Amino acid sequence: MSKKTYSPAKQRAVYPGSFDPITSGHVDIIQRGLKIFDKILVAVLENPKKKPLFTTKERMSMIQDYFVDQGNIEVKAFDGLLVEFVKNNNANIVIRGLRAISDFEYEFQMALMNRKLDPEIETLFMMPNLRYSFLSSKLVKEIFMLGGGLKDLVPEQVEKKLKEKFKKSAHA
Ligand code: ADP
Repeated sequence: MSKKTYSPAKQRAVYPGSFDPITSGHVDIIQRGLKIFDKILVAVLENPKKKPLFTTKERMSMIQDYFVDQGNIEVKAFDGLLVEFVKNNNANIVIRGLRAISDFEYEFQMALMNRKLDPEIETLFMMPNLRYSFLSSKLVKEIFMLGGGLKDLVPEQVEKKLKEKFKKSAHA
């Protein structure tokens, strides 16, 4: 039997999130997304209500730095409704990562609400490598503040930025 080649209709997908900061789990999802889509548009949520540790610009540049050699990754900031952002960027697919059952309820609610707001937009869920399924930006910040090493949990540049950030705030 001849081997079937898998050739999906490739297009652009939007991967939204806070990315405060980007972790190896996010990177894993982006790389998986690139197996299906030609381009991933990483949408960094401004949301000041979440009081992010890093500014939107910092969060974006950490992602850009990591994917600097990859023309198929684009990074943009957004606020307001995700479906509007997706439409305005000529896309109709949203990628989200699912780590554990605990992510499911919130993600399910969001996906169905977004579908109600715009039935043309589909949400696609991807599961990371098991080794990242416990990883979150929040946990990364906690580990860092408690003096734990972040090797393999975040891109090297992110660990550097965390060190800079905490040095600065210690002097503030
Ligand atoms: P939020 O949107 O809740 O602020 P993030 O910005 O951290 O969360 O995450 C953006 C998306 O990436 C979400 O779909 C989240 O489930 C997913 N994600 C975050 N960390 C991981 C991980 N370690 N593995 C897989 N997916 C992840």
